[in-house]
Amino acid sequence: MQLIDIGVNLTNPSFAEKHLAILERAEAAGVLQMMVTGTSLQGSEEALALCLQLDESAQRLFSTAGVHPHDASHWNADSSRQLRALLEQPRVRAVGECGLDFNRDFSPRPLQEKALEAQLALAVELQMPVFLHERDASERLLAILKDYRDHLPAAVVHCFTGEREALFSYLDLDLHIGITGWICDERRGTHLHPLVASIPRGRLMLESDAPYLLPRTLRPKPKSGRNEPAFLTEVVREVALHRGESIEDLAAHTTACARAFFNLPAIV
Ligand SMILES: [Zn+2]
Repeated sequence: MQLIDIGVNLTNPSFAEKHLAILERAEAAGVLQMMVTGTSLQGSEEALALCLQLDESAQRLFSTAGVHPHDASHWNADSSRQLRALLEQPRVRAVGECGLDFNRDFSPRPLQEKALEAQLALAVELQMPVFLHERDASERLLAILKDYRDHLPAAVVHCFTGEREALFSYLDLDLHIGITGWICDERRGTHLHPLVASIPRGRLMLESDAPYLLPRTLRPKPKSGRNEPAFLTEVVREVALHRGESIEDLAAHTTACARAFFNLPAIV
């Protein structure tokens, strides 16, 4: 079984000094390729540096480069130029994460929208896929995306946690959907159980969002309480159950989907 984790926050300080062990455990679990998430200009530089440092083969670790809505208030006149330079690096495979977060509102909403639109324009210019973050903001995200969608090669709403209406609107725009261990959370994720069966093959990808979102169904629980890419197998188990697919079948089609989306090499 080969899995691709499309969202790992490998630059998180809690992973410092632990990268090699984390990658070894991921490989043992079948998680052979990962997208390291960039969430700010500096964080995206660090994500790229980690990929280059930890994977000389240029086969396993790739990154995104973008500015998260939480960080949108730092977007300035020079940000597009800096981000473009990062996006032109071959190991960087998507613009993001970028988007809207009206749940925590760490940046004012107008600034979130401005930073998002600037990044969508870059994705159009460079013809790169987009890694989107959305929380409690699906209506505004859809309204903004409608102006760009025809000119974007592809876009994924990562860590989808929304309701049926938002999911179907995203699928109508021919977006991809990323599912995390949120679906393993009996307190707030069970609404996703019937919804994941509605995501067509070729539009569904899986992600750990590690070190966040440790799957609550995971047994035994790790002492650290920290999520890591190796635990993507638990997300696979839960999603396969609710789609009525075998684990092998789900792994095969989500991996093929992620490989095509991010243009990753085949691993033999
Ligand atoms: Zn996110």
